[in-house]
Formats: sequence, structure tokens, C-alpha cells
Amino acid sequence: VPVGYNERNTNMPKTPDFFQNRTILITGGASGIGRATAEIFAREGANVIVADIDGNGANTVVESIRQTNSDAKAVAVDVTDRPAVDDMIAAGIEAFGGIDYLFNSAGSAGRRSSFLEIDADLWRQTYALNVDGVFNTMQSILPHMMENRYGVIVNIASMAHRRGGAGHSTHYASSKGAVVTLTMGVAREFVEHGIRAVSISPGPIDTAFQSTSSPELKQSMTDDVPMKRMGTPQEIGEMVLFICSDACEFMTADTVYINGGGGFR
Ligand code: NAD
Repeated sequence: VPVGYNERNTNMPKTPDFFQNRTILITGGASGIGRATAEIFAREGANVIVADIDGNGANTVVESIRQTNSDAKAVAVDVTDRPAVDDMIAAGIEAFGGIDYLFNSAGSAGRRSSFLEIDADLWRQTYALNVDGVFNTMQSILPHMMENRYGVIVNIASMAHRRGGAGHSTHYASSKGAVVTLTMGVAREFVEHGIRAVSISPGPIDTAFQSTSSPELKQSMTDDVPMKRMGTPQEIGEMVLFICSDACEFMTADTVYINGGGGFR
């Protein structure tokens, strides 16, 4: 079997029930892109572990998923807290017998700030959440995926990593550059274990995340997008589903842009 083509999938038709009885863990699953992705995987029959620092929000998503045919479990977790992340992974494996997919959506730009105004707290908090959070969850789940000889990791980066966030978010943009690079390195290091890792770099997406952008910044973002709108969280979630499916297992390591044609300078 060639590297990157999973034995476990060779007899698996590319059917609509591919995700039945498979399990995804989603950080930041209580809101925005994470929540939309949770609902999309539930639609496909997957078990969903909704992990978020907002435990009540995670419970709400789990309750709505349980109205469908899928099972779900809420975990209140701060992804910057490594022991808590290890407990979350163990609880997820225990609940569903294993975890096939990790989707890291937890992330934030904190507040917007010009470069010279970035203080030590904003810098540290941004890197703790966006970089340490992704590092912690990946390092914690990889031994389990290696044991299974199967797993897909999807990390949310941002188109900002290509633009640098000049004037308002260099702290954020550079942290997302780290996510792109971290995903690349992990994908290449674990390729022979049947594990893939891909990052997604969205343009502006209409979620609570944008509440830290001023109306002027939001307007300039949409003006700059050829499609003249923000993306929806569902449009990102459907890409996560595609990446995790067996549709294109040659896809690993690189980042996928979803941005209405590009933009935000
Ligand atoms: P969102 O604010 O709606 O969701 C983020 C979720 O992460 C929230 O539920 C929040 O409670 C959770 N979270 C925050 N800190 C956490 C922590 N320490 N531990 C666990 N969970 C935590 O925002 P969103 O737009 O859905 O953002 C999802 C991801 O997409 C983020 O990584 C963001 O940087 C990225 N992104 C967003 C956009 C956009 O325009 N919305 C564009 C590019 C990238």
C-alpha cells in the first residue's frame, strides 16, 4: 500500500455514510466555525466531542446535536492548559472508543492593536491560545492516532498569515503563520503512520470572532474580497468534512485558502 493511502479505507467506498461511527473532537466547538463544523459532522452521523472554554456553550451545541441521529459529548477545557487537554483527549477516547479526527478551531485575535501598542499580555495570550493550544492538542492526540494507524488533523490558520496583519493584528497574523508551519511539520513527520494534517486559511468569516473588528475594519475587509461578502462558518465546516473524508487522501501538510477570491491586504 503506498504511503498516505490508508489500508483501512481501501475497501471503503466514497459513500455518504463514511462518517457513521467515526468520532471528531472539535476545540472551539461552542461557537462560529467550530459549532458549524460540529453540526455538519453530526449531519453525517459522526460522534462529536464539543470542547470549549465556554462549557455552557458546548452543552448547548451537544443538546442540539442529540436531537439528530448523532451522539455528542461536551468538554469544558482551556486548550492552553496541557493537563486539561490530556484529560479531554482521554475522556473523548473513553466516551466513544477512539478519536479519528481532531479539528482545532479555538482561536482569537484578542484585541486589535497596532504593532507598537502590542503589550506583553496581548502577545502572550495570542500565542498561548493560537499556537500552544494547537501544539497541546496535537501532541496529546498523536500517540492515539499512531496506535490506530489512522487520523486526520485540521487546524484553523488564517489568510492573515499571508498578509501580516499590518496596522491591527501582527500578533494574530504571525501566530497563524506558526499554525501553518506546525501543521506542515507534523503532517510530514507522521505521514508514514497513516495520519494527515491540513490547515485552512479563511478570509473574513461572519462569526462572533469579528466582534473585535471595528465597523470600518469589517467594511474594508469585505470591500477587499472579490465576492464582496464574508464567508459563512458552514463554508469552512464543509471543507473540514471534505479533508477528513476519503475523497482526497493525497491532501496533507499544506494550507487551503477559502476567501471569496482573496483580499484583505
Ligand atoms: P468564535 O469566537 O465564534 O469561536 C471561537 C471559540 O473558541 C469560542 O467558542 C471560544 O469560547 C473558544 N475558545 C476561546 N478560547 C479558548 C480556550 N482557551 N480553550 C478552548 N476554547 C476556547 O470565532 P470563529 O470565527 O469561529 O473562530 C474559529 C477559528 O477561526 C479561530 O482560530 C480564528 O482565529 C479562526 N479564523 C476566523 C476568521 C473569521 O473571520 N471569523 C478568519 C480566519 C480565521
